[in-house]
Amino acid sequence: MKKSLFIFFCLLLSGLYLLSPEIARRRRSWVVSVSRAEYFRFLSEGRAPLDRLYRRGDEVALVVNRLQMNALDQAGIAVDILCWDEYYGSRETRLTAADVHSGGINGIYHSYQETQELLQELCTRYPELTSLVTLGQSVEGREIWALKISDQADREENEPNVYVTGCHHAREWISVEMPLEFARHLLDRYHEQARIRQLVDQAQLYIIPILNPDGLEFSIHTYRMWRKNRRYLGDLVWGVDLNRNYSYAWGYDDAGSSPDPASEAYRGPVPFSEPEILILRDYLYQHPPSGMLNFHNYSQLILIPWGFTAEPPADYPEMFAMAAEMSDRIRAVNGRHYEFGSGATAIYPTNGDSDDWVYGTFGVPSFTIELPPLEFENGHFFTSEDEIQKTSAEILPALMYFCEYVKDHFSPALQAPGDRRDLERDRKPGKINHDFLP
Ligand SMILES: [Zn+2]
Repeated sequence: MKKSLFIFFCLLLSGLYLLSPEIARRRRSWVVSVSRAEYFRFLSEGRAPLDRLYRRGDEVALVVNRLQMNALDQAGIAVDILCWDEYYGSRETRLTAADVHSGGINGIYHSYQETQELLQELCTRYPELTSLVTLGQSVEGREIWALKISDQADREENEPNVYVTGCHHAREWISVEMPLEFARHLLDRYHEQARIRQLVDQAQLYIIPILNPDGLEFSIHTYRMWRKNRRYLGDLVWGVDLNRNYSYAWGYDDAGSSPDPASEAYRGPVPFSEPEILILRDYLYQHPPSGMLNFHNYSQLILIPWGFTAEPPADYPEMFAMAAEMSDRIRAVNGRHYEFGSGATAIYPTNGDSDDWVYGTFGVPSFTIELPPLEFENGHFFTSEDEIQKTSAEILPALMYFCEYVKDHFSPALQAPGDRRDLERDRKPGKINHDFLP
């Protein structure tokens, strides 16, 4: 009896320990800068390589957890902390906007300002093919830009609208780069490649690289692991998960989103409470989509509806075949495999997300591509800047295929293939850990 009581208490204590903030803290990371020469010496001593974010001159920026930080310290390497974790108090103040603009802490990744300038530059270079539209403003008042690419872009034509978005989630920096690379790809090759000309002439493509500009800036300047938008919710809690705030199956259960404002997957008080996606909704009502592709990272996945339930929707076989084709085209480039399937079965349940809302509202494909890396341990959200070109090279053929396919096969129906009233009935209780979701 005594022995079983003892074991019970041991289990209880270890359970409490696992739930403790200590464990959560240990999983958190810093972005630090060290000298390249010192870092090579560190590696030459037989130590495991650390996640490298980017290189600048003689410095290399690394992403390190507490243990790795200790290892650098023991090796006598001077560490310059570029990005503090907010759980450790101090926030970075040395970085100015000018630092970031000149390729500072975000390396060659695009900040909000850099993205805006690139979009404007593309409009200046290709005035006949582009039109820069603002959907409206974020919580902190930043414009959310959509670059429309089409022949006669300044005119509304009766052509399929295809949307490509990035950065619902602030820390997923590489998700900004894929829409930008796609815009450049289309515009730079329009006059040379008949296939691109055909797509651009016959469709209206909307490139929205940053849906969450406030979060992105916060992730660059203050806290690299920030995910949500920057809505202040009171009690020193910020942020709604923009990809849980759409209305379709919103709040279906607490596994696919959270009612807790402090959660990383907080769905907001009501659907479309957040301006960033409310204005997207209104724009899509006025310019209904034939398809939408949303970039996130990490996981190397192509996700198709539904996210809220494992029950397949009516168009599942066709969308599954599209995802399989996209995966093949990606693998043909660098040999990397992207798994595919419904959001609910291939990764984890989500509700109130963009894919379910677009498919559920307009009856057209809305997919999410989770970009590399494959695993958390391999750099998770902190994709090295060397990865941008490699990843876009493999993504562009799949993206071209997606746009052509939806242009030729889908028109918005403006009627939901599912019925919201049915959803209420099979609502299941559930809870999952919402930390570090991609
Ligand atoms: Zn994401």
